[in-house]
Amino acid sequence: MNETERDPIQPVQCPECPAGMMHPHLITYFTWLGDELIMVPNFPAWICDMCGKREYDEKAISWLTMLLNPNAGEPTRRQRKPPLPRPRPGSAHITPDS
Ligand SMILES: [Zn+2]
Repeated sequence: MNETERDPIQPVQCPECPAGMMHPHLITYFTWLGDELIMVPNFPAWICDMCGKREYDEKAISWLTMLLNPNAGEPTRRQRKPPLPRPRPGSAHITPDS
């Protein structure tokens, strides 16, 4: 497999104002899940430097939706078994001396 070329993220023109450019930022994204407020740090978003318009990364949004709502978009009833936690024999538990 080839390593994908690093292509620099280019600012895109803001759809709201003619002069603004939208730059990538990592923000803290808030969303409601039922009654719970979910906070997602380091969420990729595009923010306009002129009007402050925010657009969220589409992939990140769909990833988040999937994460918060695993049954979304699954019309068939398919139960996923969560992977069992494996005990790790002999794993060292290092605690720093104080
Ligand atoms: Zn703008």
